[in-house]
Amino acid sequence: MSSTEETIYCYHCGRRHPSNEMRQIATKAGKKWRCIRSIEATKRDVAQRDAFGKTVTTINKSENQARIKARQNAERLLAAG
Ligand SMILES: [Zn+2]
Repeated sequence: MSSTEETIYCYHCGRRHPSNEMRQIATKAGKKWRCIRSIEATKRDVAQRDAFGKTVTTINKSENQARIKARQNAERLLAAG
């Protein structure tokens, strides 16, 4: 390597990245270096999962409400008949 650019081993990717792309993070096993890109990618994944979870919850809620309404309608019909 002719480059004078410093590289640091990224435990997440298992390869070296330029040091300006690296962040040192604290893990249970001690301080480790990880690239900003993988950290940001993980953050995005978590945000997407949260958004997905909220969507599912909303769908479940509206399904429940539809079921409750259908039952109330049925009971009303039975009561009327
Ligand atoms: Zn990396």
